[in-house]
Amino acid sequence: MASQLYPILLKILDMKRRDFNRILASIPFLAPAVSDAASHASYKPKGVLVETERFASKGGWVVDSQFFQQVGGNYLLAHGMGTPVENARTEVEFSEGGDYQLWVRSKNWCVGGWEAPGRFQVLLNGKSVGKTFGEQNVEEWGWENAGKVSVKTGTSIVELKDETGFAGRCDALYFTKDSSEPLPNTPVELIQWKDYLSGRATAPVSTQTFDVVIVGGGIAGCGAAIAAERNGLKVALLQDRPVFGGNASSEIRVHTEGIHGKGGDILERLDTKWWPNSSPESVLDDQKRHRAMDEAKGIEQFLNYRACGVEMDGNSIATVDARKVGSGEIYRFAAPTFIDCTGDGWLGFWAGAEYAYGRESKNKFNEGWDKYGELWSPSKPDNRVMGSSVMWTAKPETYASGFPEVPWALPVAKTYTSVDSEWFWEFSSDDLHQIDDGEKIRDHMFRAIYGTFYNTKQDPSHATLKMTWVAHILGKRESRRLVGDYVYTMNDAIKKRQFKDTVVEETRAVDVHYQKSLKGYIVDFISEAMFWRLQPEDSLYYLPFRTLYSKNIDNMMMAGRCFSCSHIGLGGPRVQNTTGQMGIATGYAAALCKKYDAQPRDIYKKHIKELRKMVGYDDMVA
Ligand SMILES: Cc1cc2nc3c(=O)[nH]c(=O)nc-3n(C[C@H](O)[C@H](O)[C@H](O)COP(=O)(O)OP(=O)(O)OC[C@H]3O[C@@H](n4cnc5c(N)ncnc54)[C@H](O)[C@@H]3O)c2cc1C
Repeated sequence: MASQLYPILLKILDMKRRDFNRILASIPFLAPAVSDAASHASYKPKGVLVETERFASKGGWVVDSQFFQQVGGNYLLAHGMGTPVENARTEVEFSEGGDYQLWVRSKNWCVGGWEAPGRFQVLLNGKSVGKTFGEQNVEEWGWENAGKVSVKTGTSIVELKDETGFAGRCDALYFTKDSSEPLPNTPVELIQWKDYLSGRATAPVSTQTFDVVIVGGGIAGCGAAIAAERNGLKVALLQDRPVFGGNASSEIRVHTEGIHGKGGDILERLDTKWWPNSSPESVLDDQKRHRAMDEAKGIEQFLNYRACGVEMDGNSIATVDARKVGSGEIYRFAAPTFIDCTGDGWLGFWAGAEYAYGRESKNKFNEGWDKYGELWSPSKPDNRVMGSSVMWTAKPETYASGFPEVPWALPVAKTYTSVDSEWFWEFSSDDLHQIDDGEKIRDHMFRAIYGTFYNTKQDPSHATLKMTWVAHILGKRESRRLVGDYVYTMNDAIKKRQFKDTVVEETRAVDVHYQKSLKGYIVDFISEAMFWRLQPEDSLYYLPFRTLYSKNIDNMMMAGRCFSCSHIGLGGPRVQNTTGQMGIATGYAAALCKKYDAQPRDIYKKHIKELRKMVGYDDMVA
């Protein structure tokens, strides 16, 4: 085993960090081999690892799984909106009692000249280990030295005690008898090290085979799954959160927009009513969506499974590996066809699919608009994309309530006030990547929100206003766009270009955002939309099937905001009914892939009339 893996390891060591993560993420069972073979990995872990995502009782802490690749694990977050949350608690078995050195992996998420916002204590058998965590002086994940602790052989109880309610976070605790033992801190090394210590690295892998594996359970992923299932396919749908719906779910709360096109009979079971973004009514739409998913008996639902890598067979994906959130266990999924509905284009990224990120120059696809100039489309390509959002709500109660002082939030919120949020609570910055820096972006929005709410509460007329909900899952708009055989642009919309492989239709204006701070606005977390409206406004425009399969990965389709388009092209069809239509088309195409033992490109070349008929088009356009 180790000798087979060694050439791969050498290749890996020769790569940039991001490629390194990608390949290693796709072979998660490397842990023992890597530490044997790699001279830089001198870890010989013997201690007792406690991963917080595996705590038996999470109390008021939530499992944050969205930054697994960047952090090196899923972690517990004390998301109390300023009120300390209940302790998280677990039992830990010590086969040998005595003195241990304790390390706690955490992060001070907002370093500055103030008390750290996310402070917490660790209790061992009911007693604090005597140090506060989450207040180190660097804004990075790291191991904090908790000093020596003493335990008896047998079971001990470990608890996390939140002190602030403001996003304290803890990834893992490690008890070791060897205080000089080196500990890993890069995500890849950590993941291997944790797998090794927890025994996952040597655990047998379960491999399940399906007709199609769909990763990402937003509206696109759910639409794809239902369409494939209706055509008799055995479907696996992997979703890293406990709910389906992606941005439309009650975790993020964005209502669905766009038209149903030909997919009404499926989309009406998945979409939302129109409620103001961030409304708790989203919970009812979650329930409706889950009923629809449960009724589709041929779909095997893998909720709380986060895909973490792929294994390739030439230019095709052979399998996808996913970790169960909460246990870290790894499951393998095989299929002839895969659909990437992750929004971030993860499957494509791991598989080595061609992708784009950022804005093309205005000349590349001729998408300039003088009215907005550089804000719309730059003269030179850059890395700017639309931002991510964290929304929140508050409501007046019958009693007055306070809100803690948040000096750490005010440098971001400044003097801004608001009683609620909307879609335009959005943040992007040229030096932050929407995936790699996702945690920083989410945390920046936390500072914006808590600072704004503090400012608002200083006005006596808001004495009874109480914060009722803040998302902790980042709502993303744009990141990787996987490249297909056709790249959809704004010109396809404004020219209402028809395609012989049209499978999606839409009327929505091209809607692209910029940060208002670029025009001198007081804060950097509010955006402005620029709308290019078609004339007449309800004109239909079309998306060809060629935008829904990868140019260079033979058996992979994509649906959702990671479909093949330019930055400006994404502006119209990124809304969720449209992404749902994309999903449906790929689900039907997967059925044809099975029927003809074919790849998605073959469906375009040989069976496009049949696919269009399944989608709902009776006639052919030129
Ligand atoms: C604040 C805001 C306001 C918006 N306003 C509107 C609006 O009013 N109406 C509208 O329709 N659209 C709106 N949009 C745009 C729209 O929400 C997105 O373009 C759309 O959700 C993209 O759909 P998707 O399926 O590609 O991604 P998502 O909705 O993000 O779904 C992708 C899913 O994949 C899951 N996933 C990701 N990685 C993995 C993995 N490795 N393993 C397993 N699962 C994974 C994610 O958890 C997520 O559930 C808005 C977006 C934002 C952020």
